[in-house]
Amino acid sequence: MEKMSVVEEIRCSHCGAPLQFQPGEIIATCKYCGYTVVVETGKAFTFEHSILLNKYDPTQIEEPVKAWMRRGFLKPSDLARKSKITEKNLIYLPFWVVSGKAESTYKGIFERLAPAVVKEGKIAREYEWLILARKATEFPTREYKVPLEGKIPYDFRRVEAFAKVLNSEVDKEDAVELAKQQIEHNHRYLVQQDVDRIIEMKTELNVHQVVYLHSPIWFVKYEYKGRTYQLLIDGATGTDIKGEIPSSGFG
Ligand SMILES: [Zn+2]
Repeated sequence: MEKMSVVEEIRCSHCGAPLQFQPGEIIATCKYCGYTVVVETGKAFTFEHSILLNKYDPTQIEEPVKAWMRRGFLKPSDLARKSKITEKNLIYLPFWVVSGKAESTYKGIFERLAPAVVKEGKIAREYEWLILARKATEFPTREYKVPLEGKIPYDFRRVEAFAKVLNSEVDKEDAVELAKQQIEHNHRYLVQQDVDRIIEMKTELNVHQVVYLHSPIWFVKYEYKGRTYQLLIDGATGTDIKGEIPSSGFG
């Protein structure tokens, strides 16, 4: 996790409470009233801001953690019994959800079989593409199936006192640009199934909607045979997002 030294503070223009933010943060949310402000201008954030609700308290979260430990043949068989949970932190991570239709047209050479031929094609897909709005946080965004159907308008009263809410370090325009680049990268991979060499490719992203979203993620650490491992659990569903697995000790 990042260091959390507070360096700047403004007054929340809605409730007057101190609103603290870190260098690099672009959009900040007041923890006392939920007011969300664009730091640079001091003006209200006017786009859709949503939240996914967390369903676990620090005791309950141990259940999906233990279930994960017991599941799957790659794990040591005594993992659930012998490991100790040493940290359980609930963090609401900020994301941008870029919804839209991406269309790539391409031209390339298919040369797997002789004679080589020039092929043209098109890939068109709808996306709800997730961009993590933090720069230094390590999070496997592509492995996180965000349960968007559960999102509600951001409500600070639903954020637990023990949880931490991170602000955005990425603005909306940059998020859309990043989404476009990542989708194109994804399409390039798909195109390479069809042609061996790409001559030209063009991708357009027709954005329908961009939502700023806070998602509850449990950062869990556990100890097993003297070493510490990390597991990430989606607090909205209890689903494991990514977990470090100790080697089974066979080699
Ligand atoms: Zn406030």
